[in-house]
Amino acid sequence: PARNSSDAVAVIGLGRFGASLALELMAGGTEVLGIDPVESVVQDLNGKLTHVVRADATGEEVLRQLGVAEYGRVVVAIGSHLEASILTTSLLLRFGVKDIWAKAVSEAHGTILQQLGVPHVVFPERDMGRRVAHLVRGSMQDYV
Ligand code: ATP
Repeated sequence: PARNSSDAVAVIGLGRFGASLALELMAGGTEVLGIDPVESVVQDLNGKLTHVVRADATGEEVLRQLGVAEYGRVVVAIGSHLEASILTTSLLLRFGVKDIWAKAVSEAHGTILQQLGVPHVVFPERDMGRRVAHLVRGSMQDYV
């Protein structure tokens, strides 16, 4: 039986980060709507997510037609396309989506997202770099 969309997650931007996140949610039994404007990206994930749609998420009408406004949880995984990240995120805030997770590629990008009112801003490269530093230090200690 289809779960209602409040349980499902919309993932906007299906690059390395967004695709990995979407597939992990699917593996854990969460329904996922994936959105990306690049045809090859959409084709690669076709059949692997509950729904995959080729669309530009910066369009208000596009997001409304896809029902994104009804999702309780939305991830904005657009990175280097700063303008697209900010436009999409501000539309989601305007729709009243409660649980927005947005990826930032720089401290400045993260600051803007936080100022807009995004509750969860994540910095994958920065945080993974820090994490790997601890792993590197740990593995060095294995050799001394
Ligand atoms: P990653 O590290 O996750 O691969 P990145 O930081 O290099 O990504 P981008 O390439 O900017 O980030 O964006 C990730 C994905 O977001 C891409 O697949 C891109 O097509 C998609 N994207 C870009 N603009 C939009 C948009 N307007 N609407 C939806 N998705 C978009």
